[in-house]
Amino acid sequence: MVARIAAAHDALTLPNLVECPQCKTPRLSHQVCPNCGYYKGVEVVEQDKDTKKKS
Ligand SMILES: [Zn+2]
Repeated sequence: MVARIAAAHDALTLPNLVECPQCKTPRLSHQVCPNCGYYKGVEVVEQDKDTKKKS
């Protein structure tokens, strides 16, 4: 049996990733950033307050 390796074909099924302008994390296009909760410069998802403290 020959193992078939799908390469270029699979690229079409990959989600469209864009870099989050807020935290530079790759996220799905047209989706709220799962890391910082920002979308188009607006905080859409309210994050846990503790995670925002950087002191
Ligand atoms: Zn982000």
